[in-house]
Amino acid sequence: MEYRMSSPSGKNAYYRAKAKINLTLEVGKAREDGFHEVSMIMQSLRLWDDVELSFADGDTNTVECNIPFLGATPQNLAYRAVTLMQERYSLDRPIALMIKKKIPIASGLAGGSTDAAAVLRGMNKLFSLRLSTEELMKIGAEIGSDVPFCLLGGTCLATGRGELIEPVRAFPMTYVVLVKPDFSVSTPWAYQQFDLEGRQKKPNTARFLAAVESGDIRNLQKEMINMLEKPVSREHPEIPELKKQLLQLGAAAASMSGSGPTVYGLFRDEAKAKEAYLSLRGSCPRRYVVLYTNTENPRYQQGGVWKQDA
Ligand code: ATP
Repeated sequence: MEYRMSSPSGKNAYYRAKAKINLTLEVGKAREDGFHEVSMIMQSLRLWDDVELSFADGDTNTVECNIPFLGATPQNLAYRAVTLMQERYSLDRPIALMIKKKIPIASGLAGGSTDAAAVLRGMNKLFSLRLSTEELMKIGAEIGSDVPFCLLGGTCLATGRGELIEPVRAFPMTYVVLVKPDFSVSTPWAYQQFDLEGRQKKPNTARFLAAVESGDIRNLQKEMINMLEKPVSREHPEIPELKKQLLQLGAAAASMSGSGPTVYGLFRDEAKAKEAYLSLRGSCPRRYVVLYTNTENPRYQQGGVWKQDA
């Protein structure tokens, strides 16, 4: 997440709330709280929602969003973050929240979680709460499992139910083509399908990180396993079809993100990525969202590059 500007009085806070992809996703056993144990490598993208907070003129919180159903309701994770902070820290000044959504909704790209993470940062700033990132991450975990990662960004290993975050070696700057088909996948449904699935190959975090370290992007495909992909694909054959298309168009590796349905391809070469993007935009049904972006590592300015000879 990047801070862009604040008014001279410090009463505005603007953030680029970044989307994520899952580079790996291992699902473990179901826990008593209803969640599954997971172990996954998450990666931020240069694809974001604009999130801006300021003090409201009137005496109630307000929400302005280009998606009408994301208003001042608890269903909006960003708004939930506003009210949680107000209650927790007895903050009585109402907030005006503006969100311009560019991350496709319910797509496996953590759009809601990243907006909530931006709001936590904004509330911390507007009310000068001086909470550390770690403290914000603890609060964020109460809103959703992906919120702590969204507060930190970059390349991280997430464990527990996804809320325990450990930064790992920065994934080199890579071009990413995303395709979001025109159907939604509910996360609980995806885990139910996982429970019905037989034994599956698990991703190996150490081997994945070694493949990144080796600098050869072509090694990645066999380590980039998302254990929700196969069960979700049974119902949605477009997912393996889109993955195949991305690989045929020159992606070095391709996978489904989170519980889907977004499928992404990784490209070391910018020209190839643009070509694939244009080709998919032309060939996919018009209702599919096809996006072109790249990975982003806020903590490492020099995110590294892939070996020239790889
Ligand atoms: P994740 O990858 O964290 O599972 P996702 O990308 O699959 O998330 P979201 O875009 O966060 O999914 O949307 C999941 C649900 O959350 C949707 O049903 C959506 O209506 C709801 N939601 C609540 N607040 C927001 C928000 N600010 N932006 C997007 N979706 C939101």
